[in-house]
Amino acid sequence: MSQLAGTLYILSAPSGAGKTSLVKALLQQDDQVGVSVSHTTRAMRPGEVDGVDYNFVTMDAFNALIEQGQFLEYAEVFGNKYGTSQRWVEEQLTAGRDVILEIDWQGAEQVRRLMPEAVTLFILPPSREALRERLNARGQDSDEVIAGRMAEATSEMSHYPEYDYLLINDDFDTALQQLASLFQARRLRQSAQQTRHEVLLEQLLSED
Ligand code: 5GP
Repeated sequence: MSQLAGTLYILSAPSGAGKTSLVKALLQQDDQVGVSVSHTTRAMRPGEVDGVDYNFVTMDAFNALIEQGQFLEYAEVFGNKYGTSQRWVEEQLTAGRDVILEIDWQGAEQVRRLMPEAVTLFILPPSREALRERLNARGQDSDEVIAGRMAEATSEMSHYPEYDYLLINDDFDTALQQLASLFQARRLRQSAQQTRHEVLLEQLLSED
């Protein structure tokens, strides 16, 4: 997999850090990147669309996909299973497109092992209070449910040291700008530019 032209980005965050909104906004302004649609066994939430937010499948279907070797990585996250389609990711990267995986720390660990060149980014909320508010604003859940989500978020956040980049999502526009900057900077790497501008570089060095 080392000859791939696109860059693979792994984005992790606790629920409520705003990762999905940031990625959606990034995709609107950057047409060189796509986001992988995971498979999951969890129930669809109101407003979610099958095939867009996730491919919603039964546990049997999920297990069959594991047996067929279709996942680049998969993990159980707080009682539900989630997995990334290997074929789609490979196709995109081979075609020179950047790919974002929105996955948890366990998935990140698996992909990092398979593809050490992947760029990993962890998105954090600006404070516990802000996180609690965001988890609260999401629905009509009881204090107990929210406390459970805070515990899950804390557990996910404890893995931030394993990531290359950290982004604090305080002001949304600032965070989006920072995220876009990371993608832009990665595209300016010498190795990437060499492939992209092969002809120009050759011309610049040729004697008149
Ligand atoms: P949610 O159910 O709230 O959409 O996502 C719960 C958690 O599962 C999040 O941390 C999210 O990043 C993670 N997740 C979503 N898709 C995948 C996947 O394909 N693989 C792994 N390992 N985690 C995923």
